Amino acid sequence: MEPLFHKLHAIFKGSILTHREDRLAYSHDASIYEVLPQAVLEPRDSKDIQNLVSFVNEHKSTYPNLSITPRSAGTDMSGASIGNSLVLSMTRYFSKIEGLSGNILHTQPGVYMRDIDPFLEKYGLMLGSVPASRAISTVGGMVGNNAGGEQSLRYGNTERSVRELKVVFADGKEYTVRPLHKKELDVLMKKNTFEGRLYKQVYDLIEANYDLIHNARPNVNKNSMGYNLWSVWDRMTGIFDMTRLITGSQGTLGIVTDIKIEAVPKAPHTGLLLAYLTSFKQLGEIIPLVMKYKPATFEGFDDITFNLGLKYFKTFSKQLGAKEMLRQQAWLFGQVARFKGHLPNIVLMIEFEGATKEEVYKKISNLHDVLKKYHLRMDIESDEASSAPFWQIRRSSLSLLRNRVKDKYASPFIDDMTVQPKYLPEFLPKLRRIIRKYKLPATLSGHFGDGNFHIVPLMNIESPKEQAKLEPVMRELIPLVLKYGGTMAGEHNDGMVRGPWLSAVFGDDVFAIFKHTKEIFDPHYIFNPHKKTDASWEYSMDHIRTKNRDELIK
Ligand SMILES: Cc1cc2nc3c(=O)[nH]c(=O)nc-3n(C[C@H](O)[C@H](O)[C@H](O)COP(=O)(O)OP(=O)(O)OC[C@H]3O[C@@H](n4cnc5c(N)ncnc54)[C@H](O)[C@@H]3O)c2cc1C
Repeated sequence: MEPLFHKLHAIFKGSILTHREDRLAYSHDASIYEVLPQAVLEPRDSKDIQNLVSFVNEHKSTYPNLSITPRSAGTDMSGASIGNSLVLSMTRYFSKIEGLSGNILHTQPGVYMRDIDPFLEKYGLMLGSVPASRAISTVGGMVGNNAGGEQSLRYGNTERSVRELKVVFADGKEYTVRPLHKKELDVLMKKNTFEGRLYKQVYDLIEANYDLIHNARPNVNKNSMGYNLWSVWDRMTGIFDMTRLITGSQGTLGIVTDIKIEAVPKAPHTGLLLAYLTSFKQLGEIIPLVMKYKPATFEGFDDITFNLGLKYFKTFSKQLGAKEMLRQQAWLFGQVARFKGHLPNIVLMIEFEGATKEEVYKKISNLHDVLKKYHLRMDIESDEASSAPFWQIRRSSLSLLRNRVKDKYASPFIDDMTVQPKYLPEFLPKLRRIIRKYKLPATLSGHFGDGNFHIVPLMNIESPKEQAKLEPVMRELIPLVLKYGGTMAGEHNDGMVRGPWLSAVFGDDVFAIFKHTKEIFDPHYIFNPHKKTDASWEYSMDHIRTKNRDELIK
């Protein structure tokens, strides 16, 4: 590869990192996998990316494994932001918020959500699909994964908010992608250009399989599996929106260089009803009941998460500032003291919002009265200040697991199942039976209002005995989730972990359409190999992370 990197220097202005430590630093994301790249590239601008794509095209026949894996903050849980060739790291130079026009945020993809949140807050706005990883992830990764979060209950996943993207496609040129009326689409499709042919092929594919594609859409509020073909072309409205397909494509169709995304109003006042459950059995009945009261958000976490949050609350000092951390910690410990050491199995966080504090309190107390019949312990945290420590634990739940449980590895592989909440009374006991059968001590948190659960087993993932559980567990869970019309990924997408199961979930015909889609955009497989339709279980299993990182460098 050395001669190749030498040539690359001539056309690429950004950094080209080939040192051992740099490659190791980018060999992991938040998944159970590790893949060592040949080099990490930090593009300075879109022209750099366009030149790189052309360069890869030019040398692909000599170096068949040459490819580009776009990466933003690398917090992906499906193994989609690691790659064995060139990792294109977007956070260094694509880090500018371009501005706000009305409620449309214009930004580069490498901007961290921790910078976008305060920027939008000044205008009373927020993004409607920000993930719980908002402190460590970027807006480009949100688009890449079709991420969702606590607000997705109302605003859906990211695909619903994206208004326009700039994307470098496989021909090495940058294009603007936005919703088109059929008349505009017809004009474009007549052009004998890469772009014209691309749109024509995608349109023809969707038209020819219209019902099959639309019926394949999982029957849930949020899904990030497969390619979002069902959202692209709507015969009724006559709108053809390719941003829907790029969003959630995990960098397998092209590289996003610029984003316009709609922001939503941030409520003036919010508060929480906390309901503490001592048994999972009640969950299935309570969730649908709570939903009737139309909460703004409805989240939750289990006792393991709660315990970690309490034990390590002081580690949030860096993020919150020492004074705010101490304030929240004092409030939290005061609330928790009443449990006398016996933490509830599940904490439900039911959030209401309103124009005044009184309105919020009224909404919370209405539900409080209804839930009394379950004889639950409940607390009303009627404003933002008293709710804050619970949000801190919920949003950090997966980080706490990853960073604080030392003897076992938090192993996300069944981490994102979603079914409609009305099925939960039947679905949850069956799910728990499978988890028990395979002896997977797992934590649970998630977006309960969407029926979207993050079940993260704590495993010695390096052990072959533990690894042997992955496939049979998937084989038992997929039919269960499909029986209830759900999806294996509400927001964490496919990557290496669920890519190999796409045909099992969607069937061979729909899988063939997904594969065709990939090949229309990327006929020579230069974008993010071994993910989504290009994933294989063998490759993924061969790249489960090892304890001894040095082995990677052999
Ligand atoms: C503690 C924790 C909590 C999480 N909670 C949530 C949650 O609540 N909801 C949720 O949806 N996810 C969650 N995630 C997963 C992940 O954090 C999010 O999906 C996040 O949006 C990814 O952002 P990132 O910047 O880290 O992207 P990365 O991990 O760098 O990339 C994600 C995907 O997007 C692609 N990509 C990145 N940049 C580009 C680009 N410019 N062009 C094309 N493709 C690109 C990558 O190739 C990859 O496939 C969580 C992860 C952790 C570790």
